[in-house]
Amino acid sequence: MNEDKKNFETEAIRTQLERTDFLEHSTPLYLTSSFVFEDAEDMRASFTEEKERNIYSRFSNPNTSEFVEKICKMEGAESGYAFATGMAAVFSTFAALLNSGDHIVSARSVFGSTHTLFTNYFPKWNISTSYFNINEPETIESFITPNTKILYAESPTNPAIDIIDLDLLGSIAKKHNLILIIDNCFATPYLQQPIKFGAHLVIHSATKLIDGQGRVLGGVTVGKADLIRDIYLFSRNTGPALSPFNAWVLSKSLETLSVRVDKHCENALKVAEFLESHTKVNWVKYPFLKSHPQYEVAKKQMKLGGNIVAFEIKGGIEAGRKFLNAIKMCSLSANLGDTRSIVIHPASTTHNKLSEEDRLQVSITDGLVRISVGLEHVEDIISDLKQALN
Ligand SMILES: *Cc1c(COP(=O)(O)O)cnc(C)c1O
Repeated sequence: MNEDKKNFETEAIRTQLERTDFLEHSTPLYLTSSFVFEDAEDMRASFTEEKERNIYSRFSNPNTSEFVEKICKMEGAESGYAFATGMAAVFSTFAALLNSGDHIVSARSVFGSTHTLFTNYFPKWNISTSYFNINEPETIESFITPNTKILYAESPTNPAIDIIDLDLLGSIAKKHNLILIIDNCFATPYLQQPIKFGAHLVIHSATKLIDGQGRVLGGVTVGKADLIRDIYLFSRNTGPALSPFNAWVLSKSLETLSVRVDKHCENALKVAEFLESHTKVNWVKYPFLKSHPQYEVAKKQMKLGGNIVAFEIKGGIEAGRKFLNAIKMCSLSANLGDTRSIVIHPASTTHNKLSEEDRLQVSITDGLVRISVGLEHVEDIISDLKQALN
């Protein structure tokens, strides 16, 4: 791999496995579950890690190594490990680092399955979680106890597009000697690099904008080498590894991440401005709209506003359902960060099991609609939204 540091776009394209004797231009696909040894001594030295080399694809594989190396360069991280899904990354990271009796302080508005993991599963191993409101960062320190080990958040949040000050989280983590972990899925490393603000680990669901075309699942955790070492050892034995095929797809996708995300953000800002001017819309949340309550923080820590726009349609749950039914081109789907624009109405779908009060705790009002703005021509996206609103 190339050691000279280059610009983001160049690293994404030029970080590549060494060529084989075939002198291929594009990285080949290494679909192999294991690797062979020269002799008994080679095998011994490899298993004791005196030699750094591939042994078995649950541990490492050339395609996953290339993918991880790129994400490390993009996030400014020392080391990383790639997972089959974003949730495998979240679970394995926490499970590797936490012991019985440990405590997590997390934002309440985190990805649904992450919330379920903290609330329903970790208590089985005597790991507890306290949640803070993302819009009340001044309360975070009051949740920290002597057992607290990890501080966790996402920014922007899903689906309400709230922003938290990463600099503030970094200083709280430092003061209380906590491991700060940020799920950077919505921003991507192109828009925001949490390690710069003091995060020790960054998690991605690569399923979203990193793949960017709705094809494969994947996840990755990068950050401090000593923490990654623990996560690697845990994962090498428990088996959440990313498949080499998906790693190959994702590494290719990273080559176009910057151009795709630039265009996603340009389209999303136009969609947000259109919605803000529409009479059937109560409010719009987009990080780079001046009306966003944390606009200044967003500007400070993000390069652009991302591709997700949230807005509240007038008329609550019924209006939200009617709007979805009137959509013609955009997809009704649970994914996000795809080339295809996707709309979802959380109150009647992903969050319909929550009470209204619980929904409001994570800023999900009855009329909230989330749009993952895609790469279709922006006029076509806007005209679909317009006809559905009307
Ligand atoms: C989708 C998502 C995840 C989970 O990723 P999967 O690849 O679906 O397992 C985690 N965090 C955030 C913010 C997500 O959007």
